[in-house]
Amino acid sequence: MSTCTLSRALARATTTTTTRAIPRRQFGPASTSVSSRAAAPALSQQQRRHASSKHPKGFEPPSPDDLAELRERVQEFTRRELTEEVASTTDKSNSFPADMWAKMGDAGLLGITADEDVGGLAMGYQAHCVVMEELSRASGSIALSYAAHSQLCVNQLQLNGSPAQKAKYMPDLIAGTKVGALAMSESGSGSDVVSMRTRATAVDGGYLLNGSKMWITNGPDADLVVVYAKTAPDAGAKGITAFLVDTRNSPGFACLRKLDKMGMRGSNTGELVFEDVFVPQENILGAFNGGVRVLMEGLDLERLVLSAGPLGLMQASLDVALPYAHGRKQFGTPIAHFQLLQGKLADMYTKLQASRAYTYATARAVDEQGIIRTQDCAGAILYAAERATECALDCIQVLGGMGYVEEMPASRIMRDAKLYEIGAGTSEVRRMVIGRAFNKEYAHTSN
Ligand SMILES: Cc1cc2nc3c(=O)[nH]c(=O)nc-3n(C[C@H](O)[C@H](O)[C@H](O)COP(=O)(O)OP(=O)(O)OC[C@H]3O[C@@H](n4cnc5c(N)ncnc54)[C@H](O)[C@@H]3O)c2cc1C
Repeated sequence: MSTCTLSRALARATTTTTTRAIPRRQFGPASTSVSSRAAAPALSQQQRRHASSKHPKGFEPPSPDDLAELRERVQEFTRRELTEEVASTTDKSNSFPADMWAKMGDAGLLGITADEDVGGLAMGYQAHCVVMEELSRASGSIALSYAAHSQLCVNQLQLNGSPAQKAKYMPDLIAGTKVGALAMSESGSGSDVVSMRTRATAVDGGYLLNGSKMWITNGPDADLVVVYAKTAPDAGAKGITAFLVDTRNSPGFACLRKLDKMGMRGSNTGELVFEDVFVPQENILGAFNGGVRVLMEGLDLERLVLSAGPLGLMQASLDVALPYAHGRKQFGTPIAHFQLLQGKLADMYTKLQASRAYTYATARAVDEQGIIRTQDCAGAILYAAERATECALDCIQVLGGMGYVEEMPASRIMRDAKLYEIGAGTSEVRRMVIGRAFNKEYAHTSN
């Protein structure tokens, strides 16, 4: 990333700053103290070449100072636009604040990893994690919708889109005037996503899509959806293609219903149906019948960026628990001075810092060395997600009765955190992915 790019990012993020609230307590990013080289064994030249294509041309990794500055700017944005009141209202109404897209677009947050010539900031994956972490700290659900838009849709376009597709769709998505989503899961095909039944059949000038997709984040609002469908049903994984579906100009497309979820409320999740939806030939994303490559490569980086969601939620748990525990007295003593509660607070803090170290070391390896390790992308989110649920439950316990009422954010944080053990592949699937990576690495020893 060039100095000019960072200045532009920060300039955008500060142009509308008018107020400064009391800063939240910040334990500092772990990215400066972790050596990605130690965490990532050497890869082959071929793997490196493959990995380094994940950044825009001319990408320069941001320095620790750049990232710290970006973090401060995002915190200014959340203090101003994503207050506790906005987060709480979004949760209670189960409705995404529509004006948030334009606000995030104005702040420069929607195209962190995208090419500059289509409005992006070309800042890489560490920066995307910083933004995701800080948005999640303020509101888990708004951050989840943010990630579905900026990572699952915008970054998939960045990685696989043709110049014409990027020029057509990216500027509006990055400005926040259009909303993006990605649809692979189906009611019968979640963990086993390759068994999907949505079909695309060739017709004059394009394809007709038929089928349905389930649990699609931003589905009810999306203008553009990356949709995976079978184009050669008998070819298994080699018969899937990714399509760009412009929902506003696609008769036969509908969001059947918005789902009522236990958490991540306000991140609108929908069931989508496609009945003879015409998709022109030029809207194939990536190679024809090459959808699984698009899907699997996207999943690594999706897991990495999404792992910053639980980091923000762990920080949010501490933001609530620490002041409460020091302000609340029982037996004439602040409850934070009781050793059993100190143990909980210490565990919460340690889990957050360990998770941060893993996420940012993995993102730094991607940015600085062009190395994407599937097991670390899966490992970072596996670890952070489970720790975030534990931290949120501890936060509730530290607050006692106040933890159990909706006046405090503890319950929302816990309900939001649980999603990260399910979405983008469950904890079980992530363990399977890590195990399979080792099976590959050690295959020669079992012969
Ligand atoms: C809020 C939310 C947002 C989402 N957003 C999107 C989105 O934007 N786009 C999208 O495409 N999808 C999205 N999803 C779907 C999500 O990716 C799937 O729910 C997830 O992959 C799990 O699939 P499933 O629900 O069908 O569970 P299943 O696959 O039915 O799994 C049920 C249980 O069985 C376990 N299991 C399954 N297979 C194995 C195995 N081989 N070994 C061990 N255990 C196994 C699972 O771990 C889980 O515990 C979202 C889901 C939610 C809840």
